[in-house]
Amino acid sequence: MSTWPAPSVLDARTQAFPVLTTAQIDRIRPGGKLRKVEPGEILFQPDDTGVPFFVVLSGSLEIVQPDLQGERPIVTHGPGEFTGEISMISDQRCLVRGRVTEAGEFIEVSGDGLRSLVARDAELSEIFMRAFILRRLALISQGFGNVVLLGSRHSANTLRLREFLSRNAYPYVYIDLDTDKTSQELLDRFEVKMSEIPVVVCNSRTVLRNPTTQQLADCLGLNASIDQSQVRDVIIVGAGPSGLAAAVYAASEGLDALVIEANSPGGQAGSSSKIENYLGFPTGISGQELSSRSIAQAQKFGAKMMIGHSVLRLGCTHQPYEVVLDNDSVIAGRSIIISTGAQYNKPKIENLKKFEGQGIYYGATYIEAQLCQDEDVIVVGGGNSAGQAAVYLAQTARKVHILVRSRALSETMSRYLIQRITENPGIELHFETEIVALAGDSHLERVTWLDRATGEESVHDIGHVFVMAGASPRTDWLRGCLALDQQGFILTGRDLDPILDSAPMKWPLSRPPQMLETSLPGVFAVGDIRSGNVKRVASAVGEGSISIHLVHRALAEL
Ligand SMILES: Cc1cc2nc3c(=O)[nH]c(=O)nc-3n(C[C@H](O)[C@H](O)[C@H](O)COP(=O)(O)OP(=O)(O)OC[C@H]3O[C@@H](n4cnc5c(N)ncnc54)[C@H](O)[C@@H]3O)c2cc1C
Repeated sequence: MSTWPAPSVLDARTQAFPVLTTAQIDRIRPGGKLRKVEPGEILFQPDDTGVPFFVVLSGSLEIVQPDLQGERPIVTHGPGEFTGEISMISDQRCLVRGRVTEAGEFIEVSGDGLRSLVARDAELSEIFMRAFILRRLALISQGFGNVVLLGSRHSANTLRLREFLSRNAYPYVYIDLDTDKTSQELLDRFEVKMSEIPVVVCNSRTVLRNPTTQQLADCLGLNASIDQSQVRDVIIVGAGPSGLAAAVYAASEGLDALVIEANSPGGQAGSSSKIENYLGFPTGISGQELSSRSIAQAQKFGAKMMIGHSVLRLGCTHQPYEVVLDNDSVIAGRSIIISTGAQYNKPKIENLKKFEGQGIYYGATYIEAQLCQDEDVIVVGGGNSAGQAAVYLAQTARKVHILVRSRALSETMSRYLIQRITENPGIELHFETEIVALAGDSHLERVTWLDRATGEESVHDIGHVFVMAGASPRTDWLRGCLALDQQGFILTGRDLDPILDSAPMKWPLSRPPQMLETSLPGVFAVGDIRSGNVKRVASAVGEGSISIHLVHRALAEL
């Protein structure tokens, strides 16, 4: 009965809109209540929170998206079909309107009821999760967003917001002001000046002029359902692979887990175009896809996720511990997992900051690749992330120049990547070479590089540089609470033996710190942020998963 106006992604019409069997519906009934519905009745609206889940027994329900012109039809559900997409599981605001088109009877299940059903019924869980993910993908691919972003390809803030929306798998409509002449009408309608772009219109109502990431997250209601007054069993700071793995295991083992992420879930891995050495994905997986799947998995088990907020301080003098956020709110947790990873290193080049997002990029994903299609690009770095970026960009760019400080790649890059680079005619390697100057008006236009072997400087008309020069920890906010190594990575477990007596806070227990436990009982460090960690997705995921076992032990001691 589903009517879907355009071909859906993966040609997955039946998987996105399955019809439940009588036996499956009978398993849903006890957790819900019967509701008689009449034509025209609106069951949910964009921006609503706590929207219930409906199974149609008889009658029908249309799903539409209100926009500035009126409404766009999305789908009509008939008997045996059910409502919802991924926001149902993440407990975020609703994106669409549901209106009854034919009188009938529906089963209504609360969001909590649905989450507990998903947690205990494996078959229904698989059907719902697959449908919800496919429906979200379809909303994204067909531009069914209740968010309109008006921006310019020459604006760093536009790139920042587009990355934030994409990496949070949030459907949105992008209007490029450089090419779309009719958008001026839209700007006039909301009295927006050109100097205030990028502009975000949320729910056809709220207009944000060049918003911060935090303002955008709040406008989208990404954190609306989070109760900040609740003392959590575990607070996980950072949603890269290690934090997401910890969230999946914590929530699936019944812990009340809150993940706090400064930007978008996925971390460094989220900026990778393709991860090819992670177990179980023989053809590779993009960082974005890995993180989207992990988020859905963590939320399915009930983990809460606060997006777009940084933790600025750890209150470590008493139990429960406290994290202080960038909006001054304070959230308490009986245990803490620090999974804040590492941040990209920035080479010392004059003007680097000026061109960030306008020719200088720190990730090579689909969005950046679109910006430099059929143009020459430079990748700086000799590690795996530089190699991956070069191979990925070579598919769309005219020429990729890799600038490496050393004389060879063999010490820093995996063999499979070296082979792909050397065999690709679209990639040119420049050893012992580094950028010495960047020039351009508002966008990067010219790059000067120095060949150290010959001492020759040359100027190139290239407007896109991908900096992949490794990453360092940012743990200043933990000084005074936790013992760190000389580079600022967090010391854990046996590595603390020689210095535990001189740690910033006195270790109060008779037992030594557990593996992955820091110099504070019940505070753990996992992934790239941990001293001695092997900087890989697999080890981050492994440590995040193991840490939950150790959290249980620490909680039992309280
Ligand atoms: C481009 C690229 C490609 C890569 N490719 C591969 C690969 O193919 N295979 C492989 O095994 N490894 C790869 N790596 C390495 C791998 O991505 C990292 O080892 C892994 O992401 C580390 O995970 P993590 O969870 O420890 O930290 P991160 O991934 O760094 O995540 C940390 C998260 O914490 C957040 N955060 C930081 N500070 C705060 C704060 N104060 N408050 C709230 N949140 C905060 C950050 O925003 C971030 O999302 C690649 C890395 C890059 C950059």
